[in-house]
Amino acid sequence: MGSGQVTDWQGKNVTVAGLGVSGIPAAKALHARGANVTVVNDGDDARAREQAAELEALGITVRLGDGATLPEGTELIVTAPGWKPDKPLFAAAERAGVPVWGDVELAWRLRGPDAAPWLAVTGTNGKTTTVQMLASILEAAGLRTAAVGNIGVSLLDAVLGDERYDVLAVELSSYQLHWAPSLRAHSAAVLNLAPDHLDWHGSMEAYARDKGRIYEGNRVACVYNVADKATEDLVREADVEEGCRAVGFTLGTPGPSQLGVVEGILVDRAFVENRQKNAQELAEVADVTPPAPHNIANALAAAALARAYGVPAKAVRDGLRAFTPDAHRIAHVADVDGVTYIDDSKATNTHAAEASLAAYESIVWIAGGLAKGAVFEELVSKAAKRLRAAVLIGADRGLIREALARHAPEVPVVDLDRTDTGAMLAAVQEAKRLAQPGDTVLLAPACASMDMFVNYNQRGDAFAEAVRELGAGA
Ligand code: ADP
Repeated sequence: MGSGQVTDWQGKNVTVAGLGVSGIPAAKALHARGANVTVVNDGDDARAREQAAELEALGITVRLGDGATLPEGTELIVTAPGWKPDKPLFAAAERAGVPVWGDVELAWRLRGPDAAPWLAVTGTNGKTTTVQMLASILEAAGLRTAAVGNIGVSLLDAVLGDERYDVLAVELSSYQLHWAPSLRAHSAAVLNLAPDHLDWHGSMEAYARDKGRIYEGNRVACVYNVADKATEDLVREADVEEGCRAVGFTLGTPGPSQLGVVEGILVDRAFVENRQKNAQELAEVADVTPPAPHNIANALAAAALARAYGVPAKAVRDGLRAFTPDAHRIAHVADVDGVTYIDDSKATNTHAAEASLAAYESIVWIAGGLAKGAVFEELVSKAAKRLRAAVLIGADRGLIREALARHAPEVPVVDLDRTDTGAMLAAVQEAKRLAQPGDTVLLAPACASMDMFVNYNQRGDAFAEAVRELGAGA
C-alpha cells in the first residue's frame, strides 16, 4: 500500500477492526470508495448487532464475536486505535504481510491532494487544552481551521467533509500514533512525557517511541519542552525534512530558538529575525486561562506551532484571550467562606495532578480512585509542603494514604473508606472542615474515576454539586 495518498480502493479487501467511533465511519468511507469491507468485532451485544445491521444494509460484511481471526484475502487492516498491538489479529497480519493502519493513518491517506497541513500535538497531559488554544490562535489569524483528532471532530470527517480548511490543529494520542506510520505533520509538539498507558504499549521505551513518531517528517518545526528532556531526545531521534527546526518552550527566559516567559510576558525568540539578539512579545501571562504554570506551558507550545505556521504575534494574544478551557480542567467552582473550590477532575494521572497541585499555595486535596498501576511517592513528596490536609476516596486510596504517611507525615488525612458515588459530598464536607480562609480545596484525584463514577465529567459534576450544597448552608 506504499506510503502516499491512496486513490484506488476498487475491489481492495479491507478488514476494519472494531465497531465504534472510528470503525463505523472508516468502514463506510472505504465501502463508498469501492473496497470490499469486512468489519470484525470482539463483542456481540445488542448495540453491536444494531450497528452491524446498519452496516450490513449498506453491503458491508460484519463478523461479531471474533476479533482475532484474519479474514481470508485481507489486504489491509484498519484498526480502532485502542486495539492493543499484542492481539492475535495483528500477529496473523504480520505473518501474512498485511499492513495495519489506525484511524489517523487512514485519514492521512484519504486526504485530498491539496489538503490542509496538520499542526499536531501529543503528550501525556495538556493535549486537548493546547490543541484548542492553537485552533483559537489560528482563528484569530483569520484562518479556516478546526481542533480535530482525539477531540471534537474526527479526523476522517475533517478530511473527507465538505468544509475547506487552511490548516488543522490535530490532537493525537499515543495509540493513534502507534498506528500512523506514514503521517507527516507540518510541525508538531510533544508537550511532556510521563509514564501512562504502559500496559498498552508494553514499556516506557515503546510509549516514548510511539509519541516520538509525531516528529517524523516534520517540515518546519519540532516543538519540545525544555523542562522535559525526554521530549528533546525524541526530536533528536526523528528524521525530519531538510531545514526543519527544533524549537523549545520554557517557563524561564528563552534562549535563541525558544519561546519563554520574561517578566510576565510570553516571548518568542524562535520565529523572529536575528534570534540571537531579538525577541517578539506575544502575550501576557494574564491572557492565559487559568494562569497555572503548566497551562502557560501549553500556551507557549500552541504559540510555537502557530508561529511555525506563520501567524502574527497579535493573533497569538487575541487567540489566547478568546480561549476558555473545557470543563473539569482546573475549573473555578466557587468561593465559600474565603476558601476557593477548584475542579480538576480531569487530573486522572499523577503527572496531571502534580501540575495542578503546583498551582496553589495551601491546599486541601481530594484524591483517589483507580490508580491504573501508578505510584504516588514522587507526587506526594513534591506536593507535601503545599498540603493543608488530604481527603481520600475511591478504590486505590490506600496507595495514596501510604505515600502520605511516608512523605508527608504531618499532613492530616481523612480516609473516607468509601467508593459509592455519594462519597463526594462527604469528601467536600470534610474538606470544608479542614480548610482555612485563603486555602484552595482541590479535586485533583490523580486517578481514573470509573470505580465510583461513569467518567471524570460525572466526578467533577458531583464535586461542583457538593460545593453548591455547602454554599447553600447544607
Ligand atoms: P489531555 O488531552 O492530554 O488529557 P487536557 O488538556 O485535557 O489534556 O488536560 C488534562 C489534565 O492534565 C488537566 O486537568 C490538568 O490537570 C493536566 N494538565 C494540563 N496541561 C498539563 C501540562 N502541560 N502538564 C501537566 N499536566 C497538565
